[in-house]
Amino acid sequence: MSFTGADFFDTGQLVGVLTTQPLDRVLDYKAPEGGCHLGAFVEVPLGPRKVLGVVWGPGKGDYDRAKIRSVIRALNVAPMRDEMRNFLEKAGDYTLTPMSAMLRLATRAPGLGDPPSMQKIYRLGEGKPDRVTDARTRVLATLEEYGGLAFTLKELSEMAGVTSSVVKGLVKQGVVREEDTPRDTPFPRLDPGYAYTDLTKDQAVAADALRDKIRSGTFSATLLRGVTGSGKTEVYLEAVSETLRQRRQALVLLPEIALTPEFLTRMQARFGAMPAEWHSGATMTERRRIWKMVGQGGCDVVVGARSALFLPFRDLGLIVVDEEHDTSYKQEDGVLYNARDMAVLRASLCGAQVVLASATPSLETWANAEAGKYTRLDLTARFGPAVMPELRAVDMRAETLPSNRWISPTLRRTAEARIAQGEQVLFFLNRRGYAPVTICRACGHQVGCPHCDARMVEHRFLKRLMCHQCGETQPLPEVCPACEVEGKMAAVGPGVERLAEEAAEVFPEAKIATLSSDMFGSARALKAQIAEIAEGDTDIVIGTQLVAKGHNFPRLTLVGVIDADLGLQGSDLRAAERTFQLMRQVAGRAGRVEKPGTALLQTFQPEHPVIRAILSGDEEGFWRAEAAERQAAGVPPFGRMAGLILSSTDMQEAFDIGALLARNDGPIRAVGAQVFGPAPAPIARVRGRHRVRLLVKAPKGVALQGALAKWIAPVRGSAQFRLSVDIDPQSFY
Ligand code: ADP
Ligand code: ZN
Repeated sequence: MSFTGADFFDTGQLVGVLTTQPLDRVLDYKAPEGGCHLGAFVEVPLGPRKVLGVVWGPGKGDYDRAKIRSVIRALNVAPMRDEMRNFLEKAGDYTLTPMSAMLRLATRAPGLGDPPSMQKIYRLGEGKPDRVTDARTRVLATLEEYGGLAFTLKELSEMAGVTSSVVKGLVKQGVVREEDTPRDTPFPRLDPGYAYTDLTKDQAVAADALRDKIRSGTFSATLLRGVTGSGKTEVYLEAVSETLRQRRQALVLLPEIALTPEFLTRMQARFGAMPAEWHSGATMTERRRIWKMVGQGGCDVVVGARSALFLPFRDLGLIVVDEEHDTSYKQEDGVLYNARDMAVLRASLCGAQVVLASATPSLETWANAEAGKYTRLDLTARFGPAVMPELRAVDMRAETLPSNRWISPTLRRTAEARIAQGEQVLFFLNRRGYAPVTICRACGHQVGCPHCDARMVEHRFLKRLMCHQCGETQPLPEVCPACEVEGKMAAVGPGVERLAEEAAEVFPEAKIATLSSDMFGSARALKAQIAEIAEGDTDIVIGTQLVAKGHNFPRLTLVGVIDADLGLQGSDLRAAERTFQLMRQVAGRAGRVEKPGTALLQTFQPEHPVIRAILSGDEEGFWRAEAAERQAAGVPPFGRMAGLILSSTDMQEAFDIGALLARNDGPIRAVGAQVFGPAPAPIARVRGRHRVRLLVKAPKGVALQGALAKWIAPVRGSAQFRLSVDIDPQSFY
């Protein structure tokens, strides 16, 4: 690396340091002994504490020089690159997020300043064991089989199938050698030519187009569209391969739930080594290793959840956003950002390609491709013999069902036939728990959460009522909390647990498995369970939207959507789009291998335009109609929106400030935008805080962020009061 004068500050020179502390400005310090680089990660004194910061530029010098303190030390990690500083600033401006919070996003790895920690590894030693046992022989055989390789204690004992004390015993006798090595070591190189797939014609055309773009070394964005199973992953792995050939790094973003061992194994099969995996379950040491190695070039490919976007890549050449329409890309607390949009921003700043892959793109992305801003590549057929499932509506008005029953006779008959042939059936219901409402049959009282404006949902599995907003739980009441009559509390409506109960009665012989996020301790446990079901002998899978995402069920040939109308109601402007995507994906689970699949949609409104579009499979038609409607209404992506959420333990305060903002909407009107509200948020109380919303609608192309910043700058509230801005809101709760 070479440095020009402006990139380096000599000892004692003033530097401006951005810290992770919530201060709204960059602070002046003196450069430490030996000087420091622009972008250096540093430790600085702040009051009585030492905090992490980054040298953001030269000091301003508008502060009494005698009082300016010195940087304590520069950390031994790669300085933040200009491109990353630029990205954080632009992303912060876009989401109206203070820079300190942006820097926290970019430093989500602990102990960056610590010397690399050590770990113990084990390899073959010289000695001979005093006594030969089976367990000991297995340890030695494992070590011999892998030549000179060293293992961690856990790896070695697992591979040899012995307890760690067996290994330790061998260490004592010098048969196995124990060594200390630093943990933060480079990742194995990925080999772009390790394995090849013979691509179909469609796939080859798309892969060639992406390869050309990557060779250009400049930014552009591509929508890679194709039904589930059409080979999108195959195609973007070709793009990853070309990026590796160009000696640049690649990032593959997946929704957290799609980050499966299966996916990593697939990468390994293609590139001969595992990529780094960045997700919420990663340990602190793993995080730190990835963070450091991407900065030093010791890591070629990261596969990760949305926050991987803020890793300090040295030379990022490709970002893939798989399942780009997935709502989990929008972070809904803390910094409100959409990882898909931020991926496009980051790629544009570092001359990278961005590939947005989806079977059912978001309308935003579809419209960007339509307008020619993104290249669009289509994979039209499923790979191999699998075809799209046949989609049919079950008109629930014509079905006879006793009350508290949800599996229609038509669905039952079809499912029975499939199960009899040894095939798997999925009943899909996007509602967790046993029943969404618990009501008193004596007085009509519905049990609500004491802290939120939400109903308590019965979870029979846990034997409790639970609030899906705040997680509050309470035992199932025997006595009505309102009228105190005993034994009249009743469950109303279906959740997946209740559906499972019905399925067990209707299909007494079948093996049934229920999948719902709250039944599992971790994303890992859930993924393991999904994999087991996919491969195992389950006849009926009952699941929420979790099953819609990225897993193959090879024997699955029938999907029954219990309530296709759920999601069509509601004031969310994306309700139709979401329902369309979800139904298409769920239907896409059926018949992935060689048996054609069927999807049955139970609906009371078979004439609804969304249901009709799903059934006809006319995706372009659906998008065109949806786009026309949004264009007429001037809403995203044809107009801009921002939400303001005001919350306080004091309801009056939240409303008063909201009303004050609505009256003083000069800065908003000045750019031709409009303010709606204040109104109680659809969920008006969460965790004891009252919530009020304002909505800002603006024509496309106005400088909305500047106007918003000016508008909210004068807001002052009590210590209880909080205001957050949600640019391009996705959910309106
Ligand atoms: P998508 O990402 O669109 O869902 P995948 O890339 O996962 O599709 O492909 C679906 C399945 O078909 C995978 O098991 C994949 O390995 C296989 N497949 C796709 N294209 C090919 C090909 N050209 N040759 C061999 N197998 C393929
Ligand atoms: Zn609650």
